[in-house]
Amino acid sequence: GGDVLILNTCSVREKPREKVISAIRQAKAGNPGIRVVVAGCVAQLEGDTLLSEGADLVVGPDWYDSLADALREMDDGTPEHGVFDGFITDNPSFLQADPSEAGVSVFLPIQKGCDNFCTYCVVPMARGPERSRPAPEIVAEAERFVGRGAREIFLLGQNVNSYKGEGGFPGLLEQVAAIPGVSRVRFTTSHPKDLSDSLIAAMARIPQVMPWLHLPVQSGSTVVLRRMGRGYTREAYLELVDRVRAAWPKVAFTTDMIVGFPGETEEDFLQTMDLVRRVGYEGMFSFRYSERPGTAAVKLDGSVPMEIRGERLTRLQSMHEAIVPGLLERYLGQALPVLVEGTSARSEGEARGRIPQNHVVNFVPLPGQTPDALVGREVSVRIDEVRTHTLHGVQIS
Ligand code: SAH
Ligand code: SF4
Repeated sequence: GGDVLILNTCSVREKPREKVISAIRQAKAGNPGIRVVVAGCVAQLEGDTLLSEGADLVVGPDWYDSLADALREMDDGTPEHGVFDGFITDNPSFLQADPSEAGVSVFLPIQKGCDNFCTYCVVPMARGPERSRPAPEIVAEAERFVGRGAREIFLLGQNVNSYKGEGGFPGLLEQVAAIPGVSRVRFTTSHPKDLSDSLIAAMARIPQVMPWLHLPVQSGSTVVLRRMGRGYTREAYLELVDRVRAAWPKVAFTTDMIVGFPGETEEDFLQTMDLVRRVGYEGMFSFRYSERPGTAAVKLDGSVPMEIRGERLTRLQSMHEAIVPGLLERYLGQALPVLVEGTSARSEGEARGRIPQNHVVNFVPLPGQTPDALVGREVSVRIDEVRTHTLHGVQIS
């Protein structure tokens, strides 16, 4: 019995170690009887340190379903402390979600880990080798979600294109889309090197698969891409974008970007700026390169000074902010299907949902309809205004 604090951690882009340690100390100081559990990447990578800093239990990403048992054993006095940080490669288990109520859009993990070893990235170490969840288990979970009110299934993995379950990723998309009650399917992340023509064809063909592709490029320079170990060139990426657009004209692209990777010159950076304009990403997450212990990139020469990383990030983000409204103008005047997720945070009487391309739209419901009554429904909305990052419209049916 007693209080348990679970600290879930991520170390992909920051250095959370000190934060976690101070959170453990703070919790113990305020409540000496509390048991502190650390989960996630930092648990995986720094188990012994965390134990010596006062954590009672450290559980890496493969051990969450043992957590309840481990806490019970602690209640019985054995063991008192522990680190669970091996990777389970044989028959890996995935937590089975079985909520009593589901949101309109739900996340569903289909894969753990990653085998790509991009030179900057800690994920293969922190999350282990790539393992796919069996398709029947995914379908069963999606069915449970739909039974509790979900309408959109959002499939998650570090590299969903390389999903190894039966039928591969195209087969999985077909199966999830075919579940009665699923009106939309989304997924992330797609790796450019694994986006095959048959997958592009499947995405374009299955009506429930929404025309939105998060296709992180990371850099617009072939030299930098090679040093990152991404497995494609600038030219190959641009050609891929053209192929996807030809098959799927409605598609909206979004990306992740890293600036200031070791050896990145001003010239390389300008190629990144140029590629962002050329592709016309309708959304972008961008980051300053950050050294991760244990990754290959820490041994590369040409470290870029922090202030230059910061300055490039600001230039990239301001340029992107300036082009997004122009890109969103393509939706003006269009009547688009919107899956309603809730009420508008800002305007009273308005509802909030997403268009197929994943942009948020706030809209005025039909006369006599309350936003609440629309949640979970797909309605038709005419877009009448582009705001900074969102759209506005009026429901037409
Ligand atoms: N598997 C996905 C994303 C993994 S992590 C992919 O390959 O795209 C999410 C994003 O964090 C990455 O796309 C990258 O842009 C960023 N990221 C990862 N490691 C980083 C690092 N060391 N420094 C800065 N950004 C990083
Ligand atoms: Fe990291 Fe690369 Fe794997 Fe993405 S594909 S998780 S960036 S190693």
